[in-house]
Amino acid sequence: MDFNDSPTEAAFRKEVQEWLDANAEKRDADDSSAMSMFSENESPEMVEECKAWQQKKADAGWACITWPKDLGGRGGTLMENIIFSQEEAKYKIPPNIFMIGLGMAGPTIQVHGTPEQKQKWLPSMLRGDVVWCQLFSEPGAGSDLAGLRTKAVKDGDDWIINGQKVWTSGAHYSRWGILVTRSDFDAPKHKGLTYFVIDMESEGVEIRPIKQITGGANFNEVFMTDVRIPDANRLDAVGNGWAVSLTTLMNERMSIGGGMGMGAELLIGELDRIAETAYIDGVLAKDSPAVRQKIAEYYTRMKAMELTVNRTLSALSKGGMPGSESSIIKVAMGILLQEIASYAMELQGGLGTEYGEQATFAGGLWQELYLGIPAIRIAGGTDEVQRNIIGERVLGLPTEARVDKGIPFKDIPNG
Ligand SMILES: Cc1cc2nc3c(=O)[nH]c(=O)nc-3n(C[C@H](O)[C@H](O)[C@H](O)COP(=O)(O)OP(=O)(O)OC[C@H]3O[C@@H](n4cnc5c(N)ncnc54)[C@H](O)[C@@H]3O)c2cc1C
Repeated sequence: MDFNDSPTEAAFRKEVQEWLDANAEKRDADDSSAMSMFSENESPEMVEECKAWQQKKADAGWACITWPKDLGGRGGTLMENIIFSQEEAKYKIPPNIFMIGLGMAGPTIQVHGTPEQKQKWLPSMLRGDVVWCQLFSEPGAGSDLAGLRTKAVKDGDDWIINGQKVWTSGAHYSRWGILVTRSDFDAPKHKGLTYFVIDMESEGVEIRPIKQITGGANFNEVFMTDVRIPDANRLDAVGNGWAVSLTTLMNERMSIGGGMGMGAELLIGELDRIAETAYIDGVLAKDSPAVRQKIAEYYTRMKAMELTVNRTLSALSKGGMPGSESSIIKVAMGILLQEIASYAMELQGGLGTEYGEQATFAGGLWQELYLGIPAIRIAGGTDEVQRNIIGERVLGLPTEARVDKGIPFKDIPNG
């Protein structure tokens, strides 16, 4: 493992730092809002702020570092992209509402889209003019995505779509969505799927917000009733939707895994601050050996996570691709953050029940993490699904039994 930038990477980092210094305000080193992983209901003002920041980056050539130059990107490497994100995180910038577009839909259109489709959607996506959402999950299809039932029927030059999606992040401010449907109920489960780009302003699309335990409503149910999608919005061949979906899902895992490198010093520093003021049975928490041992344990485990993230970065820097570490990082980091947040709230005693701006410690960050981390352990592949990936692809254990293999979808029992 090599922790140092190569000379080219160091020069790139310097260029990034100079641009950010000139265009954004730096965070204080102990600014705990840097650890916030969730935003409340994205207001129209916040969405506009995000768009303005993305446009500023696009004007300077930083919008999509890995995209080819003819699509408005920089033609850079994955490592350069990571360096930009690492530096950008040190500044007060709006949250990234473009992850589904730039991290998932964009790469999928680049692989499976026609030249016309690329020109139609990618430049406005890159500039942040419009936001994209992902219409994959359904009430009966999440981990088992290929079990989806939203129906697509060909009608002249259009397709007619009927069905329901759920957990659609950002649908309420998105203009375009990536949508997987079932176009052939006689084909086996993975063979009868077709993938579209849907205009979220189409007639027949109804978006209902879902209120979350954190108080926000970042995702939605989306109902589609006789929605017309032109055949020109189909990505790849009819019936090839599973292959297209796998491209999206592979990019989703990379986006989520890459965003989990939270700094040990900042997080454990906040935990220390509670221990310096909270009392347990009349004794200052930091004077208790049990508390000190717990904090040391969490610091050690956070450092181990950082090293695992660095292992991936080191491989990327040498031209490799992220491997099984992404699944390991996602499972281990989710569990660890939830444990630390739980302990931080326990140390706060009664104050641990305060939420939002009323919270005494770290502006309510711990409560936000405690309530929000379970979502991270579900989105983009649950802990159990990640463990299956590690078991099958890393440890070479036998694969799960597939009782529905080769059977026409309409004959698979459901309900
Ligand atoms: C914050 C957040 C944002 C999201 N955003 C989007 C979005 O924008 N678009 C979208 O389409 N979806 C989105 N999702 C949905 C997400 O993809 C699904 O929640 C996820 O795939 C799990 O599916 P499910 O909720 O249907 O749970 P299920 O698949 O029903 O799982 C239920 C339980 O069974 C376990 N389980 C399932 N299969 C197996 C197995 N084979 N082996 C062992 N255990 C298993 C799971 O681990 C889980 O504990 C989002 C979810 C979250 C939390």
